[in-house]
This record gives sequence, C-alpha cells and structure tokens, in this order.
Amino acid sequence: MSVRVGILGATGAVGQRFIQLLQNHPTFNLVAVTASESSVGKRYHDAAKWRIETPIPEEIGSMVVTETTPEALPSNVDLLFSSLPSSVAAEVEPDFLEAGYVISSNSSNDRMASDIPLTIPEINPGHLKLIEQQRINRGWDGALVKNPNCSTITMMPTLAALQELEIDSVHVSTLQAVSGAGYSGVTSMEIIDNAIPHIGGEENKMESESRKILGSFTGANVELHSMDVIASCNRIPTLDGHLENVFVETSQSVSTDEAADAMQSYSGTSLYSSPEQLINVFDDPIRPQPRLDRARGDGMQISVGGIQQTATGIKYNCLAHNTIRGAAGASLLNAELLVDAGWV
Ligand code: NAP
Repeated sequence: MSVRVGILGATGAVGQRFIQLLQNHPTFNLVAVTASESSVGKRYHDAAKWRIETPIPEEIGSMVVTETTPEALPSNVDLLFSSLPSSVAAEVEPDFLEAGYVISSNSSNDRMASDIPLTIPEINPGHLKLIEQQRINRGWDGALVKNPNCSTITMMPTLAALQELEIDSVHVSTLQAVSGAGYSGVTSMEIIDNAIPHIGGEENKMESESRKILGSFTGANVELHSMDVIASCNRIPTLDGHLENVFVETSQSVSTDEAADAMQSYSGTSLYSSPEQLINVFDDPIRPQPRLDRARGDGMQISVGGIQQTATGIKYNCLAHNTIRGAAGASLLNAELLVDAGWV
C-alpha cells in the first residue's frame, strides 16, 4: 500500500525530522511540503534552515514549498502531517479537516478536546475511536489525531508500564533541549552557559495530557486518570533529547527490580516505526544521557536509569529524543495507526 503524504510546516525543527523519517518509509510517500508566506515558492533546499545530521535528500531539496491552504495542495494527497505553530494550526487545521483531509498533528491546540484522540500507539491505540464522535460533533469529513507534547511523551511509556501498581501521583522535573523550542525559540545569548527554569505552558501540558493518555475510553470520550501530576520544566543547553527526573507514588509497594522488569517488558506495537523494545533500562546510574542515548532505537526508544525505591514508591530518570520520539516520530506512529485502523 502506498499513501501520499504532505507536511504542513515542513521547514521547521519538527518538519525536518518528518522529512528525515519519511525517507525509505515503506508506506508513506512525500508529495507536498508547505510553510509560511516567507517560504512559499522557494525550493525546500533554500527555504529550510536544515539542522539534521544527514543531508537533505536531493529529491526533497528540489520540491517547491506551497501555501498552507487546502487549495494549494496537489489533489492526490491522502494524509497530512502537521508541525505548524499551535496558533497557526488552530486556525488552518479545521480548513483541511472540512475539506476531508486526515491529519496527524503535533501542534498543541485541541489536544485536550474531548473528541480529539491524543494517542501514543503503544499505550492507548483504542482512543483513536474518538474520531467517530469527532465526526458527529464537528461535521468533518476528515479526521484529526494529536500526539502529546514532547516532555509528556518522554515519561508516558514508563508510567504506562507501572500503571498496574496503581499510581497515586507523579512529580516530574525536566531538563529540556533547545530544539524543543523550535528553530528560533531560544537564542544562543539566552541559553549558552545557562539554564532557564520555566517553559511557558509546558508544565500544564504534562499535568493534563498524561491523565488523558492513561484515561479510560468510554465510547464517547475519555475519563481522565485520577493520578495527581505535578511538573517543573527547565530548558538546558543540549541540542536534542529531553531528560526527566520522575517521582512516582504508588498504592502498591514496588521494588526496583519489579519496576525495571515492568519497564523492560512493556510491549510495543508491530507498527513499522515502533522500536522492538520500547523502554531500555540501564543499571548504570549515570545513564541515560542526552548525547549518548537519544538516538537509541533510531530515536524512538525511551531510556531509563537510576531506579530507586522511595518511602512512597519509586524514582528514576528517563530520556527521549524530543523531535523524533517526542514529535515527528510520534506523529508518524499515529499515522501508521490510522492506516492500520482503516481511517486512511
Ligand atoms: P518551528 O521550527 O518554528 O517551525 C514552524 C513551521 O511552521 C515552519 O515550517 C514555518 O514555516 C511554519 N509556519 C510558521 N508560521 C506559519 C504560518 N503563518 N503559515 C504557515 N506555516 C507557518 O517549530 P517546531 O519546533 O518545528 O514546532 C512545530 C509544532 O510542533 C509546534 O506546534 C510545536 O509546539 C510542536 N512540537 C514541537 C516539538 C519540538 O521538540 N520542537 C515537540 C513536540 C511538539 P517558515 O519556515 O516558512 O517560517
């Protein structure tokens, strides 16, 4: 099966990762790239400030960037990825949905809306059925699925693996890479030799999105998980890879070995972009580290280390590649799920 895809906001930090991950994909074939007015009409090569380790593929570099409207897209697009700034996505995504497009989106608008699936395919694939309710509520011919924020995605597989221990609360403190703020998000003068103890809106996203992902699907909506989540988010001068210190309070007591086993054996899916092993647990307490571990599993694996018992549960550190597992790779997996479930 071949699915023709387009990327809305293809020239940004996440858009570039889409282009990298779509190379040699067995199902998706990139046919359209869009961006802002300042890039429209340019060859992709000239419009994108490319910052990926590998060169821009020649056939993509010569594609012409089009306007971000349904009318400007070639008529043969089956599925769209969206990596637009959230304020822009909130305005334009409905136009594409009304025109019948299926969108797998990274942008934060509508993530907590009751009829929008917020999915990580290894954890809550069943929430995709919210699309039926979405079509009834909104009259769209298309369909919209969102992936969570990059910092939420980093800890979610570990929490899903521990869910049977009845999680009462989660406290998390993050050390987030600069690419998470987008290409022009943080200037070098702000971040070199520094750390910034606030990321606007991020704490709120972690606290709410995590409860939706572990929530129960009722048929028409998702009942949020009862756990209490408190997040504290910090920007540090790494390029890619978010590291998080997580403190989980559980109703049932848990040993470090039990927690490590639950994480190591937490199953993935058979979808193409899902790593064979979703969570890798290190014995070495000084791992994971962004530079050493963000590329594990082609950037799709979650790394964990430093698991220790506490008086009320356990604590550990976890890491994920924010623009791959936390963004473009997450959307790609959701798109594979959409295809698998017959929505495309
Ligand atoms: P970015 O580097 O700033 O890229 C934004 C993209 O949107 C560019 O292609 C830009 O085109 C385009 N764009 C901007 N304004 C536009 C407009 N008015 N009309 C059409 N296109 C427009 O941002 P990013 O980091 O890739 O993030 C993209 C989205 O993903 C955001 O919603 C972000 O919150 C989310 N996200 C990011 C990460 C991460 O780790 N970076 C993780 C998870 C989710 P030009 O190049 O022409 O300006």
